Parts: sequence; C-alpha cells; structure tokens
Amino acid sequence: MTLLSLLLDNEENGKKLFLLGNEAIARGALEASVSVVTTYPGTPSSEIGDTLYDLHKEAGIKFQFSVNEKVAVETAFAASISGVRSLVFMKHVGLNVASDPFVTTAYTGTRAGMVVLTADDPSMYSSQNEQDNRHYAELAHIPMIEPSNPQEAKDFLVKAYEISEKYNIPVLFRTTTRVAHMRAPVALGKIEKEHVSVAQFVKDPERFVSLPSNALRLKEKLIEKISEIEKESDSYDLNRIERIGSGGIGIITSGASFNSVMDVVNEYALDADILKIGLSYPAPRDMISAFLSEHERVVVIEELDPYLENNVRITSQINGLKTIINGKIDGYFSYSHEFTPDTVAQSLSKIMGFPYTPIVAVKSVLPPRPPVLCPGCPHRATYYAVERAVKMMKVDPVYSSDIGCYSLGFYEPYREADTMISMGSSIGLANGFSLVSGRKVIAFIGDSTFYHSGIEPLINAYHYGLNMLVMILDNDVTAMTGQQPNPGSDTDTEVAPVKIEEIVRGIGISDIAIVDPYDTAVTLKAITSALRNDGISVIISRRECAILRDRKMQKNGKLQVYTVNQDKCGLCMNCVENFACPAIYIEDKRIKINPDLCDGCGVCSQVYVCPYRAIEVEHASI
Ligand code: SF4
Ligand code: SF4
Repeated sequence: MTLLSLLLDNEENGKKLFLLGNEAIARGALEASVSVVTTYPGTPSSEIGDTLYDLHKEAGIKFQFSVNEKVAVETAFAASISGVRSLVFMKHVGLNVASDPFVTTAYTGTRAGMVVLTADDPSMYSSQNEQDNRHYAELAHIPMIEPSNPQEAKDFLVKAYEISEKYNIPVLFRTTTRVAHMRAPVALGKIEKEHVSVAQFVKDPERFVSLPSNALRLKEKLIEKISEIEKESDSYDLNRIERIGSGGIGIITSGASFNSVMDVVNEYALDADILKIGLSYPAPRDMISAFLSEHERVVVIEELDPYLENNVRITSQINGLKTIINGKIDGYFSYSHEFTPDTVAQSLSKIMGFPYTPIVAVKSVLPPRPPVLCPGCPHRATYYAVERAVKMMKVDPVYSSDIGCYSLGFYEPYREADTMISMGSSIGLANGFSLVSGRKVIAFIGDSTFYHSGIEPLINAYHYGLNMLVMILDNDVTAMTGQQPNPGSDTDTEVAPVKIEEIVRGIGISDIAIVDPYDTAVTLKAITSALRNDGISVIISRRECAILRDRKMQKNGKLQVYTVNQDKCGLCMNCVENFACPAIYIEDKRIKINPDLCDGCGVCSQVYVCPYRAIEVEHASI
C-alpha cells in the first residue's frame, strides 16, 4: 500500500505508521473530519499541503493552494462560519500576511472548528527571519497549541477542533521545523465522520459584521472566552508533568524544546520534574503556580523568545512566590536559533552545576557549497541577460529581489539582489527607490509571488508614474516549496490559467515584453529596450522550471546534453565565470560539461555565452 492509501485507510485505526510531523498533521485532519483545507505553500509546512492535495479528492476534502495566506484564512473562516470544519496552514511569515483577518476572526468567533497552523522556522533553514509566532496568540486572544512530536501533532490537532467548537473560536496550532520534519511512529485514530461537502451560512450580521458597535461587544465576549479556557486549561491532557527522580529542579518547556530537555535529563541522569505545556495560550496559570510552589528553582527552556518565561514570571509575581526562575531573561539561554540537546545541556549545566561534556562534532568531509540555481534553470539565463544588458547600457541599477528560487541571484557571479525582505517587496521597494533616488530600479519577482502580493505595488507604481523595470520570472509553478501549482499554472481544472500579461495590461502598463530566457538574443534586446524607457516596463521571462522540464523530457526520451568542442574552445572562461551553470567545470585546464548534470537547455551554446561557439550538442542520452 502507498503512504497515501495508508493515511486514508480507516482499518489502520490503532496501528502505527512511521510519519513525518507534517504527514501526521494530514492524518489528523482526516481524523478530525476537516472538510476545507487552504494554504499558501511555505516551508516548513509544505508537506501538509502536498499530502492533503494528493488525497483530497479521494477523502472528499475541498483543497486550495490559495493565492496568498490572507485569502487562505478568509476562505477557511467562511467555511467554518458556514458550518464546515476547516484547516488553514502556512509558514510563520505567512501569518503576517494573514494577520488582518486572523485577529478579527477571534472577535466574531467561528462555528464549525477552525484551526490556523503556523510553522515557525527557528534557525531560518528556509526563511528570511525567525519570528516567534506564539506572540500572535496573545495579540489576537486566540488559544494556542504546541505539539512536540508527530504523534502529538496528530492527536493535538484533533483536540484543537474540540476546543475550537466548544468555545466557537479559532485555534492557533504552532509547529516548528523540527516537529514538522521529524519522523516517528504514530498510532492512528479513527476517521469518525464523513467530510461535509455542502453547508449553508446562517446569517447573524450583529456577530459577523465587525463594525465598531458590534466589535466592542464581541471583544468583551472574546476576553470571557479566553478566561474560561484558562480556567479549564489545567484539566486538559495537553499539559502534563513528567517526574524523573525525586523532584529536584523544575523545568517548564514546550514544543521541540521538550525533546531536547528529555534527552539531556536522561543523558545526565538529572533529578528533575518537567512541566510540558501543550496549550500555551492561555497559559495554565494554576498548574504553573502549583509547579513553582513545589520547587525552589524552575528553569524555563524554550526556543526563540521568552514567551513561556514571561508567563511563568508573571504567575510567580501574582502569587507572591519565591521560586528562583532561570531562562533567557537572566541570560542563561539564547533568544536565537533552534536548540539542540547540546545547547540545552550547556546552559543547564551552568544553572545546576553538573559537569558538561560537549558533544564532539563529526568533522564534515564535504566542502561547503553555496546554494546554486539548478543546471538549466531559466532564472540563470535571465540574470545573465540582465547583467549583459546593464553593462551594454552603462547603467547602475538598484536590484530589488523577492522571495523564491530567484533570490539565489544574490550570489556570485550574478549579485543581482540588493534588497529582499518579504513576499512582493521587490516591487514595493522599487516604488520607494524610484521615488527618492532617480536611479533605474530593476525588480525581480516570480510568478507565484506576483499573484501573492506583487500586483498591488505594481498598481501603486503605475498610479504614481514611477520608473522601474519589473522582471517577472514565470516558471509556471511555485517552485521553491516543491512545484505546487499557482493561478498561472496549466493544471487539470476547467478554468484557464490567469495570464500575468493581462493583469499588467489591465493596470494600464503598455511597455510589456514576453521573452523566452533560453533565447538570449531576444531577451537581451527586450531588456536593453526597457532600460531606455523612463516609465514602467515589465518583462515576463517565461520558461517552465528546469526540474519540471527535465521530468517531461526524460518521460518523452528527448533529453540531450551538451559538450565542449576542445578544438574550438578559446578558454575565455565566460561560461564558468559569468554564466556559471553548475554542469560546466574546469579539469586539466580544459572546460568540460558533466553530462549527468547537464539538462540540455542549450543556453551556454549561444554566442552571447560562448563567443567561440565551442559548446555543442553531444548526443541524445535517453
Ligand atoms: S546546456 Fe549548458 S547551460 Fe544548459 S544545463 Fe547543459 S551545461 Fe548547463
Ligand atoms: S565560453 Fe566557450 S570558449 Fe569560453 S571557455 Fe567556455 S567553452 Fe571555452
């Protein structure tokens, strides 16, 4: 049986599957009878979407890769208040985009259960920051659950729907990279009910129209709800105490940090009680207070901000307790990065005075490798053409980049990213640069990011008559997070893809070119022409993602590779130093192409890359 069929199989109730945290969450959604699932793809939450997308039809779930996280939350919210359970998930920064509706959904409340999952990324494995989204729970007054492992990820998700429906409130479900990507045995539960496919919205405008006159009343009700959940939170099995030894030191922890704490306590045979908090907003104050009273010293161990620690210190102060509390605020633990058992042991040894033995790191035999664009990536061809055109035109532009594979244009030899802060910010920042600097600005944005949040800043730029060249790198998919479809993808729906050029023309912009970046001559001509323009120019550089292209070509048996004709090569080094396809390398003072890496795009063979025309088709390899 495939994993998907195992995940769908109700006969597997009670059996165990070896699942990623994100796969366990997908199973949890099935066990919780979720009927509507929405997301914008973002690591580390991507595998939830990939799994549920693959099985949604069979499971009877309505699934959307929404255009952005705000739309995803709004869609899921409307499903909930129509009486259908919904799940919406995103990476941590996605909640910034969705925060506007997210906060107000707490005021109006929900009907059927609604869970908003945020996947935080301590250590920024694939993100631009490591913000701690637990603060959103307090900011929005929305209860928050933090699982520590795949089993809890599944079980706590089911529990989240019970809390959501008991109090008619959305629940924030906070995972981190370690929990999302950890693999462990997961005991399955029963898929209880059928998924609801049709529901009716029952009108209640005094509740769902958040005008100030209604919102003032709703806010009071929201605070009452949170207070009731707090009173009950001590009784939830989401929070528990692990007693190891005879109650020496107390440790309060949650999420992935719990796993590191358990490793250290077992490794060093520490005498400790551990209060593991699963429902971390509202904090179980009575439970924390009782735990503090039992111990002379309590250490709070959590990744990123001192979120729990603040709650523990407030609880201590309210109850007039004398317990010594250690954590980040007094400098024992870092505010940054993911914790490991080693980092936890190091800090804990200073507090408890046990001898700390550093884990000897195994020295990597692999040389460090910077991230690179794939062989045949159309973005490389675009960056190369921009670099050539800028030199030819003798301009010194500001390069405003964006979130996606193409942010790798930051690295040598391209260096075509001077800024990159958030989704859609390439065009947003280009507005500001154009307004104040008088310099040409070149903004790079991908197709998915353009649909997500690039359209509004382009409207703004047009409205104010600003001067910029917007390069829209259209590779047909949301490539960086795993090739998910977007509104421009030619998927199997009956609806035609949304054309970027029609959106741009609809705004009123007339200087538009559509180029194939594999055609260097045409691309160069379009860029030099746009650089002469004083207003807004848009170039859509359209070529499907090289990974998708490879898959198709291998399937059709058409993959060809290129080789260097040594008799023609003038050793000018342009292909290595300025174009930099990873398939091209130097050996014995000769330029060679690795046929296992070459995907046959042919860009390097063109005269603008190889002036000696020394790169030629070798043979059909498949
Ligand atoms: S054809 Fe040239 S540029 Fe394209 S993948 Fe092969 S070596 Fe790289
Ligand atoms: S660009 Fe052409 S001539 Fe120059 S080093 Fe590469 S293969 Fe040789």
